[in-house]
Amino acid sequence: MKNILLIEPDYKNKYPPLGLMKICTYHKQKGDNVVFYKGCSAELKKQLWDRIYISTLFTFYWDKTIKTIKFYSESVKHTSNIFVGGVMATLMKSKIQDEINVTIVEGLLNEKGKLGYKDDDKIDCILPDHSIIDSKFNHLLEYSYPTNDSYIAYATRGCIRKCKFCAVPIIEPIFTNSISIAKQVKAIKDNFGGKRHLLLLDNNILASEEFPKIIDEIKSIGFERGAKYILNTNGKKVYLNRYVDFNQGIDARLLTKEKMRLLSEIAIKPLRIAFDDIKYKYIYIEKVKLAAEHGIKTLSNYVLFNFKDTPEDFYERLKINVELNEEFERKGYKSKIWSFPMKYSPIGGEFCKNRKYIGEHWNKKYLRGVQCILLATHGVVGPQKQFFGKAFGKDVKEFLKILTLPENFIIYRNSHLNNGDRNKLDATVNSLNKEQKNSLMKMILANDFNNIETQTNDKYILDILKLYKVK
Ligand code: SF4
Repeated sequence: MKNILLIEPDYKNKYPPLGLMKICTYHKQKGDNVVFYKGCSAELKKQLWDRIYISTLFTFYWDKTIKTIKFYSESVKHTSNIFVGGVMATLMKSKIQDEINVTIVEGLLNEKGKLGYKDDDKIDCILPDHSIIDSKFNHLLEYSYPTNDSYIAYATRGCIRKCKFCAVPIIEPIFTNSISIAKQVKAIKDNFGGKRHLLLLDNNILASEEFPKIIDEIKSIGFERGAKYILNTNGKKVYLNRYVDFNQGIDARLLTKEKMRLLSEIAIKPLRIAFDDIKYKYIYIEKVKLAAEHGIKTLSNYVLFNFKDTPEDFYERLKINVELNEEFERKGYKSKIWSFPMKYSPIGGEFCKNRKYIGEHWNKKYLRGVQCILLATHGVVGPQKQFFGKAFGKDVKEFLKILTLPENFIIYRNSHLNNGDRNKLDATVNSLNKEQKNSLMKMILANDFNNIETQTNDKYILDILKLYKVK
């Protein structure tokens, strides 16, 4: 019997580490002792393990991930007994090995020999061990995954597209079909108990020729439109709504009327449609309207920014959603769109180790400005036009102006408007001549207010910049 330690670095994440959960089942089937922990544990570090598996996620978690790997480096006979897999490991193999000589596992566990066992190609299809992410069974666990009450499954792997900002084509290069959701759900239910919701991690479900069959399967396992989950509490039955979430979003370009009809037959909430590029404006609008016509009420929308886009088209994409919400209300549809702006971070190259990348049409201050707006809106852009106008501005000109305000003027907009500070700031800026305004703007967009005195001698500019130092 071998002693196996499974580690996920302690970043905040929504989904449990499915790869580690599958490796757990695999080793338990061999009769090994398996322990899972999230983060760095001094107690576990003291022990000697036959193997340690460490999962990785986004490349911008570089520091935390490398620190975690190094933390356990003396808990094995040789660092090659530490197996590091997942997204960052696949994308940054040589960079990790420059730091520490561990074994890197690239891509999926669907090929022989990746873990040095004869039958390790079967791991990708194994039932993930859900007990290790449940604190009822794993007393070491201090983290609660927000998706704990969902069956997590997928019907396809890979994607037919090759979007430059996405890691899927590298990690799952081959698009495959025909993985039975019903079988996965049954196995989870039989081994770990029933779950309320169904979370599907397909990268591009609409690319599957078997989409109608997938919908039939989803309905057959109790996730048809209006489906209820029965909870037994104190001898009473409580009927709760249950939902299906294609969490990676739906590809609007592949969405036909027929596919929308099929989607509307299941308990989908939310329907996620990405709006990453303004060039898909008309296609996006058409498909979102189609969803509303089919009675899909909750629409959620990832809005990528800081990639090839401009701040202006980012604003336009958000505004389109607000206007669609207004149109739905006018027409008496119950549908609402919620937008989730997502800042692009490169998946390779010199900027991938942190979130400091600045897109070609963006600058430090604009990015920080968006972050401050989103702090005030909790990361979401809701359906109300009035709130949108207040947070992002009533037009693109006002949006760009908001982005250049001092941070606390953005976050606490109302108090600065009410106490007259905002008016004073505008009046002072307006009193500057053109040259002063240009040089002020240059300093604001650089977003470095630590040593403003070394940047200018102009008293009026300095007075304004002092407001930017207040956190
Ligand atoms: S369609 Fe989605 S999953 Fe496929 S490559 Fe593009 S972003 Fe990635």
